[in-house]
Amino acid sequence: MNRFEKCNCQLDPTLVCSKHTCQCKVCKTEGNTAVCSWRIAHLEYLTKKMPNLKLKEEEGNLTYMQIMEMHAREIGGQVPQSARERSLLNIMAFLNQPVDGSDLILDLTQTISWCQDRTDGVVPTIATKSRLFCVAQGNELSCGQLMDLMGVPTDANFNNLTPATVRKVLGNMMHIGDVGMMRGVAFGLRTSLLF
Ligand SMILES: [Zn+2]
Ligand SMILES: [Zn+2]
Repeated sequence: MNRFEKCNCQLDPTLVCSKHTCQCKVCKTEGNTAVCSWRIAHLEYLTKKMPNLKLKEEEGNLTYMQIMEMHAREIGGQVPQSARERSLLNIMAFLNQPVDGSDLILDLTQTISWCQDRTDGVVPTIATKSRLFCVAQGNELSCGQLMDLMGVPTDANFNNLTPATVRKVLGNMMHIGDVGMMRGVAFGLRTSLLF
């Protein structure tokens, strides 16, 4: 990839960016033909959410990803380079404007209809391979932040496990709050059976 090449990641997911090419099976064998499944799913999602949107009129407007790249040094974050993730973020940020005042957080690893885009202060369920992205901060949640969310002390000894393995462990954990709720429900059921 030529780093001086201009990014053309647009809101319209069917427009192919020559800098951020898709690496899916279809694109690898047939070239970037804009017919890979995620592009179709993204277009369907966007059209369903905003039936009157004229994508042609959005062409050339700065996208969320392009703005994030301009400020990458300030936010100290790694801006996603995958074509699918960039399109996902561009669409979700567009649907949740203004993003700087939004609590939007979503899971980059999931398809657009399953990415659990939450704006209510609740973080999406952490799965073993989840990569949660906070749109207002333009940053992916770190392993330490995920540990905090799961109630695990950040100095917990995981016997030198790699961050990827720690994330997997966290994804298999159950939050203490959920355990409390389950105990409450189980206790309630037991009591109702007794009387
Ligand atoms: Zn691009
Ligand atoms: Zn593709």
